[in-house]
Amino acid sequence: MFGKGLVKGLQITWKEFWAPKLTVEYPDKQHPMPERFHGKFVLDVDKCIACGLCVNACPNRVISLNKQKVGKKQYLTDYKMDIQYCLFCGLCVESCNKGAIHFTQDFNMNQYFYKNIPLVLVRREAPAEPLEEPATGGEEKPKPKPKPKPQAPKEEKVAEPAPPAAESEAAAGKEGQ
Ligand code: SF4
Ligand code: SF4
Repeated sequence: MFGKGLVKGLQITWKEFWAPKLTVEYPDKQHPMPERFHGKFVLDVDKCIACGLCVNACPNRVISLNKQKVGKKQYLTDYKMDIQYCLFCGLCVESCNKGAIHFTQDFNMNQYFYKNIPLVLVRREAPAEPLEEPATGGEEKPKPKPKPKPQAPKEEKVAEPAPPAAESEAAAGKEGQ
């Protein structure tokens, strides 16, 4: 009984020793991440309009943002994610119609201190004056073509009635004298 089990165990060990390895020596090596992996968030602040759609879409109230009105636009001053409560469901990314927030393939978000866990994506002061719009790379926008002016309707010439034949003969006689 004892000898039979030992042989069977060694058989399995021998077989697995030559089988292809599926594990890697992390962190020196790492498996390639899937393209659509839900990892650490990044926010494109230039695209974000501080509309708050992502905040409302989040079922766990992970996202909080602050904004300030500068000129006619809202300026994002603070964007924080309490990532310890995040489900990585992606609803916030789906809800953003500006494509400002998205996932990366970085899964390593561990922190030594609890206070460092929240992900602060933006923290800045609002400018006193509205910022200038970024230049479009020297390319001028094509000017819209002027609309053709509506033309006035042409006046139709009314043909004058021909003089009666007797009058025209009398006129011809006068000319002859
Ligand atoms: S992935 Fe889901 S849970 Fe996490 S912040 Fe976005 S909406 Fe909230
Ligand atoms: S990340 Fe997108 S949805 Fe969220 S506030 Fe900015 S523009 Fe709005």
